[in-house]
Amino acid sequence: MNQRELFLRHVGQTSDAPIALEIVRAEGCTLWDAHGKQYLDLIGGISVCNMGHRHPAVVAAAKEQLDAYLHVMVYGELIESPQVQYAASLSNYLPAALDTVFFTSSGTEATEGAMKLAKRYTGKPKIVAFDQSYHGSTQGALSVMGSEYWRNAFRPLLPGIVHLPHGVLEVLDAIDDQTACVIAEPIQAERGVVRPTNEWMHQLRNRCDEVGALLILDEIQTGMGRTGSLFAFQQTGIVPDIVLLGKAFGAGMPLGAFVAAREKMSVLTHDPVLGHISTFGGHPVCCAAGMAGFHALLASGCMDQVTYKSQLFKHRLRHSLIHEVRTAGLLMAVEFESWDINKRVIDRCIELGVFTDWFLFAQHCMRLAPPLIISEEEIAHACTIILQACDEIANA
Ligand code: PMP
Repeated sequence: MNQRELFLRHVGQTSDAPIALEIVRAEGCTLWDAHGKQYLDLIGGISVCNMGHRHPAVVAAAKEQLDAYLHVMVYGELIESPQVQYAASLSNYLPAALDTVFFTSSGTEATEGAMKLAKRYTGKPKIVAFDQSYHGSTQGALSVMGSEYWRNAFRPLLPGIVHLPHGVLEVLDAIDDQTACVIAEPIQAERGVVRPTNEWMHQLRNRCDEVGALLILDEIQTGMGRTGSLFAFQQTGIVPDIVLLGKAFGAGMPLGAFVAAREKMSVLTHDPVLGHISTFGGHPVCCAAGMAGFHALLASGCMDQVTYKSQLFKHRLRHSLIHEVRTAGLLMAVEFESWDINKRVIDRCIELGVFTDWFLFAQHCMRLAPPLIISEEEIAHACTIILQACDEIANA
């Protein structure tokens, strides 16, 4: 069997139609497949590779840590410098109320840990989440996922969860004194990049304060500079009680975190002791790599260029097939009439060496989330290819 056949035969699949390119190398904004074909990567591993693939500082930090130690003990018992340094460094860039980092290995584990923390801290049973939100695929995160289609096959799920429409002011009264937490994305990524009004974000914060519910903001996809600030919530003027991190937080290595005030986080240490534990959370190599990526992001000035680069895409991507380009910095959705058109454009782009994808809840939208380091030339090339694909499909 060749490699593709082995992949389809022995690797657990997530759909009947995987992209199934065999990638043998990745550097900056470029991927190479086993046939030597080159792809401009417009999705960066789904908002993971914000500083590009194999940023030299990330690779060097990981190698240095590989030479020191790998896993030595379950999370939380030993002083592991990569965790300590990353947590301390991150907290310098967060509001004072977000000073304690609990490391996990993925985004969904950050969601799980945060929901447990909110229940334990408030002693309340109810969780409020939003339609068309995505917070991960494990059962707790799935329970708050905003889609009946994906939830339904896996019942029973967590009880006590209420889903509300995102961005709607009138429904916030459903957050009541039985609510442990509200979990929301500051920008709904998988809905096709939909940003609520600032007023809504403030009303949401106020309502949580009124009833004593913790506000969890999921920055797993929007964080680490993606939308032009370190975190999207920093553009709103509100501060969450817990922030969720993942994806670009590990700079290409598996790492997540939930971040809260020390006073809140400390409840996980008692009644019960070891209230949330993980063998691999905050793996030293992942923390070393993640921190190098974080520092590279800060030093590069990339974040200051996010809005400009986003505008370059937006201005160039004008075509009769394109209804709208919604942007939150370099998280962008190119909206077509239908899934069918979107899929044909995406497939043609991939054939032409430009790698893109779609959104879970907006299958008529093309996902653009390139590494933040993408150059103006690469943006111009990407847009030329996307427009060429649109032309071909419009004229077919
Ligand atoms: N929250 C958001 C907003 C996400 O985009 C994702 C991943 N797509 C997750 C949570 C889950 O992260 P992970 O896949 O690392 O579990």
